[in-house]
Amino acid sequence: MSTSDILENLRSRILSGYTLLFLKSWEEDRWENELAQLALEMEWGLVTWSATTGPQPPISMDEGETGHDPQNFFDQIALYPPQHVFLMKDLAPHLENPDVLRKLRDIIPDLADQQKILLCLGPDADIPMALQKEAVQIELPLPGSEELREVVQNVFGHEEPNAAVPLELKPDEEERVVKSLLGLTVREARKALTRALYGHNSFNDEIIVSLVSEKKRMVQGSDLVEFYELDEGVRDIGGLEMLKEWMTQRSEAFSSRAREKGVPVPKGVLLLGVQGCGKSLTCRATARLLGFPLVRLDVSSLLSSDRGSSEKNMRDVLHLMETIAPAVLWLDEIEKGFAGSDQSADYDSTMSRLMGRFLTWMDERHAPVFVVATANSVKSLPPELLRRGRFDELFFIDLPNYYERKQILEVHLVKRGWKPEKFDINNLAERTEGYSGAELEQIIVSAMLDSYGKGQILSQKALDDARENTVPLSVTMEEKIFELREWARTRCRPATPDSRVMQMMDEENRRDEEAAAERAAAHREEWQMLAEHGQYPAAFAEFVRLKKSVHYHELEEAFAEYMTTAGDQGLALRSDPNTVLWVGLSPDVAGTLVKLIAEKKLYVHEVDPDIAESTPKKPKLPTVRGLSEERLARPCWLPTVLCAYAPEEVNPRLSRVARMKLSN
Ligand code: ATP
Repeated sequence: MSTSDILENLRSRILSGYTLLFLKSWEEDRWENELAQLALEMEWGLVTWSATTGPQPPISMDEGETGHDPQNFFDQIALYPPQHVFLMKDLAPHLENPDVLRKLRDIIPDLADQQKILLCLGPDADIPMALQKEAVQIELPLPGSEELREVVQNVFGHEEPNAAVPLELKPDEEERVVKSLLGLTVREARKALTRALYGHNSFNDEIIVSLVSEKKRMVQGSDLVEFYELDEGVRDIGGLEMLKEWMTQRSEAFSSRAREKGVPVPKGVLLLGVQGCGKSLTCRATARLLGFPLVRLDVSSLLSSDRGSSEKNMRDVLHLMETIAPAVLWLDEIEKGFAGSDQSADYDSTMSRLMGRFLTWMDERHAPVFVVATANSVKSLPPELLRRGRFDELFFIDLPNYYERKQILEVHLVKRGWKPEKFDINNLAERTEGYSGAELEQIIVSAMLDSYGKGQILSQKALDDARENTVPLSVTMEEKIFELREWARTRCRPATPDSRVMQMMDEENRRDEEAAAERAAAHREEWQMLAEHGQYPAAFAEFVRLKKSVHYHELEEAFAEYMTTAGDQGLALRSDPNTVLWVGLSPDVAGTLVKLIAEKKLYVHEVDPDIAESTPKKPKLPTVRGLSEERLARPCWLPTVLCAYAPEEVNPRLSRVARMKLSN
């Protein structure tokens, strides 16, 4: 229920003569404001009471009748005129006193006639047994998207005193931030957001991760579930292209745009597969992709005798999930939890009740909780769990094929700071058929440790040795894997495209890369070929055209392989030989440049003298800040570069350059 639904509900109860409501909420400030606004709209009076302030506004200030004491306040209620709402904060502990409770019961019958209602607000607003017949308890909702959007806009718009730099948010980014704050109170959301923004001057994924981790506190009280930090993203998964694509598509369906169009909220996915092939990793990456907290439930832990009744445990977990929603609920190794067992009939019947409860919740829940269940085997999985429509999709994750092995090896090398192109990944991928993702990662880790132990850096040989020493699990589990594949063949969607498709994709990528390399080589070769053939003017012009803007020292370095570039010649303006452009060139280079500039094949462009101060090998002359109209009294350096196009404002003096003896 949204805030406005609840206010409407309260309005109708007040008008229809309810006299006592217990309102459960942690957000005293927000609800006090909302209720004050409601009373104002209804043209009713509002009196707030707490043991520290007494009634506000007070009605009697007689000695000893300040109303701080709840019994005393109950007496005063009759003195207020009709049509009043009495909002009492933290009354619950006082009701443990039998005298207070009795007094309250005494006044209740008269309240309806006087058009008065008592609202008890607090986090522990449970109704005492003696009041069960007179009172109603209402759980006040946490702020919804609209209230949180306001917080986000205030914090991002710098209207909050502690806010960090104001950041621009695109609509989809705002939506992600709002979504990640759902489940927090306004005050918590404001604090979390201000903290998450600290040190960031643009929107990024880390902000979402930090907001989500703020919800950790909410699950901390429960020992039935475990909260996971969102450290891994989709780019940490090698292969599994179809699964990644499906997840990315589904994540769109959580947006408000999708809600407006009536797109149903995705329910969840079952990931079935070979051990160590990335089921858990996919689950973690999904939560990060969605920007939701990830909470893992070990189903078998619900049964622990020291945790009380298993059904209550299940109820608590599902309630917790709805509180922190939107969220991802991860049911790990579901086959071990919900499966039938050979333990006892009692165990089996409890489990099937638990599963029934869970499945009903999956069908009926309204809160956006995306369930990811993972399983290594299907043998003992109850068929009702696998029924079509229960999960949005069942995916089968097989051992990685050649192309996926390449990607997985690359992911893990990059993760540890190694450049994959320095190793023969193709060869390693070819020789690791039957290895799982976890085993491929292990090869890299062992090779790094061995190399470090020997005081060497990671080498191909170390990787090959580590591979030889790792026996893949698939060797011993061949039969099980075969069975799993057979079962999944007709029932699940593969997480990986057919390896022929991957081969085509790989070849296409390779062709693209080769073409790009060829294009780059073609350009390079043209000026190089010209230089090799002694065609220096054409080579210079082509080199400058390719680089767009070239400094004299870059030209010297590039052509040093083909000609002598250093010498005692320099370039200066014909109109003022004291305006020096460059020094220390060979006669060939200086002469060629003078000619190209005169023929307007190259142009001299002035550059910012401040930037030019860091130019390597710059002339040991004072720098002149801009081209002077008058002749300089002594040689100075005018910072310039060479371009193949004319400057916006052509200065004829810059297109007449002379060479002269000028070494550094
Ligand atoms: P289990 O059934 O044993 O729980 P699993 O299928 O859940 O296994 P993960 O726990 O996800 O496998 O894999 C273990 C580790 O292996 C991951 O944390 C990751 O580092 C690596 N790994 C596995 N598959 C992949 C993959 N496709 N891409 C990148 N890394 C992978």
